[in-house]
Amino acid sequence: MLASLRRRKIRITPQRLAILRVLAASKGHPAVEQIHQQVARTFPTMSLATVYKTVSLLKQLGEVLELGFADASSRYDGNRPYPHPHVICTRCRKILDPDLAALETLAREIAAETGFRIEAHRVDFFGLCPECSRREGEPALQMKDRRGGDGRPGP
Ligand code: ZN
Ligand code: MN
Repeated sequence: MLASLRRRKIRITPQRLAILRVLAASKGHPAVEQIHQQVARTFPTMSLATVYKTVSLLKQLGEVLELGFADASSRYDGNRPYPHPHVICTRCRKILDPDLAALETLAREIAAETGFRIEAHRVDFFGLCPECSRREGEPALQMKDRRGGDGRPGP
C-alpha cells in the first residue's frame, strides 16, 4: 500500500500512515468508525471525516476493497483489495474471507456462457456464524452472553 502511494506521489502524512496500518493489520473488515476508534488512540484529534477521506482515497487507488450494503453501511478489506467472496453473519456482522477456488471456474463458465468479459464479481454468503448459531440454540443465555457496545466485532 505504502509503495503504491509513493509511486503515485501521494503525500504520506503520519495520520494517513496510521490509517494504512490499521487497514493492513485488520482481518475483520472494519467499518470506518472502527478504523477511526483505533487510529484515535494514537491521534486523538483525528476526525471521522479525515478517516473517511483517506479510506475513500485508498479505495480509488484500488488499495482497499469496499463492501457496501443495502443499509448504506460499508466495511473495508485492506488485505485483499481485489474481488473475493465473503461470508457474513447477519446477527453480529462478522465478515470472513472463505477460500473458494470454485469461483474462478464459475467466472470462466459465466464468461463462456454470456460472452461477457468478467472484470469483477461480488459473492456474499449470509448466515449465522458458529458463535451466534450456538447462542441461538441457547435462548436462556442470549441476554447474559451478549457483549457490550453495538455487538460488532473489533477490526
Ligand atoms: Zn455472528
Ligand atoms: Mn475480505
